[in-house]
Amino acid sequence: MSHNNCIFCKIIAKEIPARVVYEDAHVLAFDDLNPQAPCHVLVIPKKHITTANDVVTEDRERLGQMFIAGQKVAALKGVDENGFRFVMNTGQDGGQSVYHIHLHVLGGRPLTWPPG
Ligand code: 5GP
Ligand code: ZN
Repeated sequence: MSHNNCIFCKIIAKEIPARVVYEDAHVLAFDDLNPQAPCHVLVIPKKHITTANDVVTEDRERLGQMFIAGQKVAALKGVDENGFRFVMNTGQDGGQSVYHIHLHVLGGRPLTWPPG
């Protein structure tokens, strides 16, 4: 289910290196290249899904696995107690720049609200 020219599919295929934080059969989590907080990890499904708009009913368990992986990442990074933020930017107005869904796990500092 890899997608031509998708940078995150290439990371899954180990064609592009990444600092892996967590991996299992369903998801991969790695440090963001341009971190916006002391903890900034991206959790991605191993199946290519372009945006949150493209999630279908058969992906429901996969999305749950991303959530649980994000929780594990927060614990591994030591931000679980103080708190963290899950973000999924979607489409142009959502500020999505890589079109393979990813859950940002941000933490390690107080995060402001609302976002920009
Ligand atoms: P988006 O803007 O789509 O919500 O998030 C994409 C994220 O992917 C950005 O935070 C960006 O820094 C990160 N990113 C883009 N290319 C790479 C890459 O090749 N490796 C890693 N580790 N992160 C990347
Ligand atoms: Zn992809």
